[in-house]
Amino acid sequence: MHIRQIYKDANALLEGHFLLASGNHSSYYLQSAKVLEYPKKASILTDALAKMIRDAGIEADTVCAPAIGGLLAGYELARSLDVRSIFVEKKEGGMELRRGFTVSKNEKIIICEDIITTGGSALKAAKAIEALGGEVVAFASLANRGFCKRVGGNDTAKAECALPQNVPLFALDDFSFKMYAPEECPQCKEGKTKAIKPGSQS
Ligand code: ZN
Repeated sequence: MHIRQIYKDANALLEGHFLLASGNHSSYYLQSAKVLEYPKKASILTDALAKMIRDAGIEADTVCAPAIGGLLAGYELARSLDVRSIFVEKKEGGMELRRGFTVSKNEKIIICEDIITTGGSALKAAKAIEALGGEVVAFASLANRGFCKRVGGNDTAKAECALPQNVPLFALDDFSFKMYAPEECPQCKEGKTKAIKPGSQS
């Protein structure tokens, strides 16, 4: 499966001049929600992700996603694995389970995101699950930005990766883009365009 092509076809892999949340500039941006716009395509992606997880011998009772970003990927992965789907939501400094969702002691849980950058939200979700007695058996994501090491991937974990090294990360592909500090950005130097801020705001 050509993951990059699926992202391109869905206009989820954007090319241009972007201001990232980190403050750096890049010529590429992953607009992850776009690749999940069509549920049938989403299920093809999560079926492939579920196969990677099963092939590695990981068994889970539940998939938990950090809202909002991970919701659709998490729900579809739960469908692919035929397990329960829950999600955690932001609270001051972390994430928490609401809406009557529960976690039982030693319940095996996969934390699922649409995209793992440094893994900060996924780690907060894992901490919320572990505080309730659940066991995080894996992290899963459609796309990995290349800061964390995924099972089968070539990239090594960078210092920025927030995920624990002893829990596997499964992702369909690595999307490692060159990033530049604004003063070193080639497109800024060229001066034809101004970096735009994509993401959830636009
Ligand atoms: Zn720039």
